[in-house]
Amino acid sequence: MTTQDPLTIKALYQQPFLELIYQAAQIQEDNFKSSDIEMCQLVSVKTGGCPEDCAYCSQSNQSESEIKLNPLLPVSEVEAIAKSAKERGVKRICMGAAYKSPTSAAIQRSCEYITAIKKHGLETCATLGSLTQEQATTLKQAGLDYYNHNIDTSPEYYSQVITSRTFNDRLDTINHVGTAGIKVCCGGILGMGESQDDRISFIHALTVLPYTPSSIPINMLVKIPGTKLAEVADLDKFELLRTIATTRILFPTTRIRLSAGRDQLSELEQALCFLAGANSIFYGDKLLTAPNNARHADLELLAKLGSNNAQLG
Ligand code: SF4
Repeated sequence: MTTQDPLTIKALYQQPFLELIYQAAQIQEDNFKSSDIEMCQLVSVKTGGCPEDCAYCSQSNQSESEIKLNPLLPVSEVEAIAKSAKERGVKRICMGAAYKSPTSAAIQRSCEYITAIKKHGLETCATLGSLTQEQATTLKQAGLDYYNHNIDTSPEYYSQVITSRTFNDRLDTINHVGTAGIKVCCGGILGMGESQDDRISFIHALTVLPYTPSSIPINMLVKIPGTKLAEVADLDKFELLRTIATTRILFPTTRIRLSAGRDQLSELEQALCFLAGANSIFYGDKLLTAPNNARHADLELLAKLGSNNAQLG
């Protein structure tokens, strides 16, 4: 990761668009094979009933969205998902559970999921809310490879989106995860009504995390009816591309995941995102509660791009 001050990041972000994309593409090419697009699968292991008030999320108790609540899935169900994902070429299973912080039972069950998934030769990632140091260490001992904990947006805009926890609370968990020796997955969501300065500040905040992220998900808001952000104005997609490219330049060897909202992009817009530095996607028809691109559409796109994973099913 290249450390830069906010003004230098702003200059990078605001340079002429084609120069920015060209610079990012060169860095991408120097550090990865352009045809290597990592495929991960997200599984909601516990859905809904979350006491946090994230304004974008249908799983918050504050949201009026209609979702099906689900308690923790049986281990056998998660293992069956992992087995089939492996056969389709997925590299990592990301387990998502709607908690402010996981209960002891949830940590115990997560350890069992990790064992079951790893039996099939897959990497594991979990996103279970805020962790204590002890919980992070327990998950590491069970074999967890990555922990996702997004900063979501800039420190300045954070309280417009979430009030039930602070930006610094997020940093505490990231610190516990890194200290336990788990790789950090940390990114955010664009298009929540933030300004361009917020997006630049969000990127800067990623560069000063207590541990450098090995994976950065960049999401575009999925406007779910019943959430507080359901009516927010659309993001200009050039802003999505500028964010991806600037992040690629600052994190040359980190996987950048084009995450939620990808189904709102055309094939060519997705191809531009990959050119600008994204090199990981969620594969599967559904994210936690939001829609995702159909599997056959992804395979067709990967084939058009000449990606290594295009032959998978
Ligand atoms: S984003 Fe996560 S923490 Fe926030 S309300 Fe949804 S499930 Fe809870």
